[in-house]
Amino acid sequence: MKTIDIIVPCYNEEEGLEYFVRETNKAIDTLPDYSFRYILINDGSRDKTYLIMKKLAKQFSNIKYISFSRNFGKEAAMYAGLQHACADYVVVMDADLQHPPEVFPQMIEALEKEGYDCCATKRDEREGEGLFRGLFSKLFFKLSNKLTDVKNPYGAMDYRMMTQQMVQAILELSEVQRFSKGIFSWVGFNTKWISFKTVERRMGTTKWKFSSLFKYAIDGITCFSVAPLRFTAIMGAVIFFISLIYIIITLIQTLFFGITTPGYVTTLCAVLFLGGLTEMSIGILGEYIGRIYMETKDRPIYITKFSNFEEENNKEKDKEKDEK
Ligand code: UDP
Ligand code: MG
Repeated sequence: MKTIDIIVPCYNEEEGLEYFVRETNKAIDTLPDYSFRYILINDGSRDKTYLIMKKLAKQFSNIKYISFSRNFGKEAAMYAGLQHACADYVVVMDADLQHPPEVFPQMIEALEKEGYDCCATKRDEREGEGLFRGLFSKLFFKLSNKLTDVKNPYGAMDYRMMTQQMVQAILELSEVQRFSKGIFSWVGFNTKWISFKTVERRMGTTKWKFSSLFKYAIDGITCFSVAPLRFTAIMGAVIFFISLIYIIITLIQTLFFGITTPGYVTTLCAVLFLGGLTEMSIGILGEYIGRIYMETKDRPIYITKFSNFEEENNKEKDKEKDEK
């Protein structure tokens, strides 16, 4: 029997977690040929999420949980889940039922019959997002597909099912500043994209603000490309050559015709323009240096406080002891 691990990052999901498990179990029950296991990750929730997880784990033997010592972010939670997943197929999905478990059969078919390594989901194209947000995310997908090795269709989501082989590849990328959508795509393998109608969050609230989306977009590009750095270098070169021409023209003018203009406007333009450009370049440089700095610290991606994986390990150790 094939096994499937479902990784679910949870941050303040007390309202919906039980409902999520109930609904997902319904989908699982329709697939008796597969053995499912949940890996719930409590990402430092400040509500009762952890208690609910513990309760659920008592109730269902196929529920495993990891609880972080603080909020490390969804990316870290997914990483923790992937590290613990040992099933044939691994699913990553949200706890808010915005990712319908009803598409499991479709995903399994893609992996098993159609020969894909991953079946990922994307937002239905026809759906609106809000004008500004929509424009922003369209621009982001265009830009990041152009600038980086990462190729994702518009509206790509984290919700996907992957083979264990692909999970192992993802775990090889153990960087601290994780951008999963990029990593999923960077490791390669064949991905099938399916879309479904997204629904509003049933319970709880979204943890995204526009500012965090903006940060996410910057991460998405800088984590996978040095194109912005190259852009500043090219800008520098272009301006250098233009200046050279302008200097020659001015020299000739001065030598042959004498100084005719006070040069107020040109000076002002040059100072302001170059000043702005220099600041921007230093900013971009700083963005990358900051990333190098954070990465060289080599801190752990997450810290576990509680987990029922340990119990299992202990049991196994006890067994080994007994056998000896
Ligand atoms: N999440 C998390 N850590 C965080 C923020 C979110 O583990 O710091 C989880 C959250 O519990 C949910 C998933 O990530 O299961 C997606 O979050 P949300 O629904 O807020 O994002 P959206 O669907 O709006 O993109
Ligand atoms: Mg959501």
